[in-house]
Amino acid sequence: MNDDLIRQSAEIIQGSSKGIAFTGAGISTPSGIPDFRSHDSGLWQSVDAMAVASIWGFRQNPAGFFEWFYPLTELILAAKPNVAHKALAQLEAMGKLQAVITQNIDMLHTRAGNKTIYELHGHLREATCIHCFTVYPAEPIIAQFLKDKQVPHCPKCGSVLKPNAILFGEQLPIQQLLASQEAARRSDMVIVVGSSLEVAPASDIPILGKRNGAKLIIINLEPTPLDSMADVVIHENAALALPAILSCLESTSI
Ligand code: NAD
Ligand code: ZN
Repeated sequence: MNDDLIRQSAEIIQGSSKGIAFTGAGISTPSGIPDFRSHDSGLWQSVDAMAVASIWGFRQNPAGFFEWFYPLTELILAAKPNVAHKALAQLEAMGKLQAVITQNIDMLHTRAGNKTIYELHGHLREATCIHCFTVYPAEPIIAQFLKDKQVPHCPKCGSVLKPNAILFGEQLPIQQLLASQEAARRSDMVIVVGSSLEVAPASDIPILGKRNGAKLIIINLEPTPLDSMADVVIHENAALALPAILSCLESTSI
């Protein structure tokens, strides 16, 4: 771990009061949920995920989607927030973070204790009928699916139920996107954690913050397209880097 980069990050956070965190699948890999793009993670490689996890793929072949989705669902339900999620909850409690904007559907920021969370790619708390658009709480539906591996159907019209996770080709939830953009415009610090920053328009959020004068910290195992515009770049496991930044922050602010 590069102590200088940790200290520089802590100094930026120390001077901020309107920060935002922008997180991707990489913050949850230490909780046992693989990301899509890292090698060997499996989720991306085994099938053409772009096709299976698209809204067209879902409509054409719901069984194919649910087969692909099964192991991810199992892992998400078994996962617990890790120290990186908890560090972000602590930063919010300290008044340093205004919001967490996440691309994850795993709901781990909520469970870690963050209060203001914008879930740009949806979540697994609800499922919606693709025909009559009735919305159902997802918990019993997922429990049944994990038991019988069957495609869930709408009790009202018999059509297929889709978890409220955003698939490729679907619109992002507009209220969440607008609120995220507003928080980014107001922000004085953006901390990116575990995102390849390759999926637009979500990846535009850190750029929006930077353009409006925010400092940009990127914590990601691999280089990202925004590294060159960042104030600090840490190519390190978020579950090591974020707690290190937090303890540096706590020791300097005493
Ligand atoms: P991504 O797979 O494109 O990128 C993840 C990035 O995190 C990679 O660049 C990788 O180097 C980095 N990374 C992995 N482990 C890390 C760690 N411990 N510390 C620091 N960095 C780490 O993910 P993405 O940018 O979030 O986009 C993929 C999309 O897939 C997301 O939009 C999301 O909706 C969905 N997804 C969600 C989950 C989840 O909810 N946990 C999991 C997989 C995919
Ligand atoms: Zn229906």
